[in-house]
Amino acid sequence: RILLNAVSDPVKENVKGVAVTIQDITREAELNEAKSQFISNVSHELRTPLFNIKSFIETLYEYGEELSDSEKHEFLETANRETDRLTRLVNDVLDLSRLESCKIYTFEAVDLAQPIEQTLRTYQLNAKDKGIELLQEVQPHLAAVYGHYDLLLQVFVNLVGNALKFTEAGGKVVIRAYALEQERMPSQVRVEISDTGIGIDAVDQAAIFDRFFRVENRVHTLEGTGLGLSIVKNIIDRHRSQIHLESEVGVGTTFWFDLPVFEERPANALHTHTLD
Ligand code: ADP
Repeated sequence: RILLNAVSDPVKENVKGVAVTIQDITREAELNEAKSQFISNVSHELRTPLFNIKSFIETLYEYGEELSDSEKHEFLETANRETDRLTRLVNDVLDLSRLESCKIYTFEAVDLAQPIEQTLRTYQLNAKDKGIELLQEVQPHLAAVYGHYDLLLQVFVNLVGNALKFTEAGGKVVIRAYALEQERMPSQVRVEISDTGIGIDAVDQAAIFDRFFRVENRVHTLEGTGLGLSIVKNIIDRHRSQIHLESEVGVGTTFWFDLPVFEERPANALHTHTLD
């Protein structure tokens, strides 16, 4: 889209010229559109659990005496589950908006073994409960990468959380990190999160990083917000890299990305990373 501004001064009789500025506002218009689409999606997603919670409370309030204890219990349990969903949604929306509004992050040397270890600790019990083997294969003495610790931790937490959610008992989830070498020197670190879960078919793979996208008819659809992978993509974009996936239905999924190795700069160990 083009915005045309033509300026002349009609008061003066002797007009010698007209100033014309041409401004390409395509990007701005696209961003505005995406923003209003996002707000309308968020409102819709918030309204559903809220509506459910309100209906359960109303029913309990008005017909409580006619309901059996087990019916009341069931209603309260569902309302509780919906409240959890609402909380997850609000947290994800806040994470995403914080990511998008903060233009400057300080990047530094990150030893990936640490966020990976922290992610394993977070999910070890959950994996055990589900009968899934959760492992890490981090190359010994792996070079530090140039990145942001908390953002990278969030990537691991979201990807491993999904891997566990969409893998059946007896399955396996592995976080791998190893150096890719160029002329015998480590130049990038490759990170892979793979699972032996239900997989994602080719059509859904194309939309998987879109906000609020969830593959339909899945048992765990209600547990998710459809924002986890857009947050992951946003963070990997900020590291000037790309997230990829390989998946086969019924076999499993691997998400992978590369991060640059941190290079020591003598006078300035910390770098400020600005996004456009
Ligand atoms: P959600 O909160 O629903 O998990 P995400 O953006 O993280 O949102 O993921 C979007 C959808 O992608 C999920 O609902 C799920 O259908 C699919 N998905 C994500 N990760 C996996 C995986 N490891 N295996 C199979 N399907 C996955």
